[in-house]
Amino acid sequence: MARVALVTGGTRGIGSAISLALKAQGRTVVANYASNEAAAASFQAETGIAVVKFNVCDYEECEAGIAKVVAEYGPIEILVNNAGITRDGTLLRMRRDMWDAVLDTNLGSCFNMCKLTFEGMRDRKYGRVVNIGSINGQAGQYGQVNYAAAKSGIHGFTKALAQEGARFGITVNAIAPGYVDTEMVRAVPGEVLRKIVAKIPVGRLGQAEDIARGVAFLTADDAGFVTGSTLSINGGMHMY
Ligand code: NDP
Repeated sequence: MARVALVTGGTRGIGSAISLALKAQGRTVVANYASNEAAAASFQAETGIAVVKFNVCDYEECEAGIAKVVAEYGPIEILVNNAGITRDGTLLRMRRDMWDAVLDTNLGSCFNMCKLTFEGMRDRKYGRVVNIGSINGQAGQYGQVNYAAAKSGIHGFTKALAQEGARFGITVNAIAPGYVDTEMVRAVPGEVLRKIVAKIPVGRLGQAEDIARGVAFLTADDAGFVTGSTLSINGGMHMY
């Protein structure tokens, strides 16, 4: 039977490319989203991939969402923690709610989702977890103490959980994307974006598919010896 993969924030941006790549690998994919009903509906209609709405920041919502997926499709063996947001501002301008929202969505979500799926993976002695970090969690970024802290936290979370999962056949890895052409990056002012692209050795923004390819590699059945690693996919912008 096909393994079940759950992708948070899987209906648009990088997440939608990840959902499609996992489907192409023969997985039964369920894509989570938070609130953008229109994007979720057109993604489902175009791809045939099931969608499930819940807020990854909310533990009880995650519990209910995961229970629904398991009841309908079977145990979750592949988990991709991709949902993320930015709320940029220098520290002096950053409000506490901007800090909390970014930490909860990017990092708290990894706790919620892993906590609720890890036991099942352990019992079945198989699991593939991929957490989506960021180049800005590796290198830091002006105006992003919240995002850099959350993404950097993901990299530590990944290495710690990888140690807990290793003897149960569960791998836990992270991907640190560079700048990828999605709505998140399109929100950056044009002038700033041109300066960013000028610093990318391959001379272009990443495409969502560049990141999805990494997820497909790390979640493959025969990738069991790769765990606790961070795969940087950034066009050479930060060699870490
Ligand atoms: P997008 O803004 O394009 O998409 C974000 C997705 O996350 C959406 O599907 C959104 O759902 C979902 N989401 C947001 N908040 C929640 C929540 N509380 N609960 C459930 N789902 C939620 O982002 P990208 O595709 O650009 O980014 C994907 C990941 O990659 C993020 O973790 C981001 O930090 C990371 N990343 C992105 C980079 C880039 O250059 N784009 C660079 C480095 C890392 P909905 O559609 O309902 O709003």
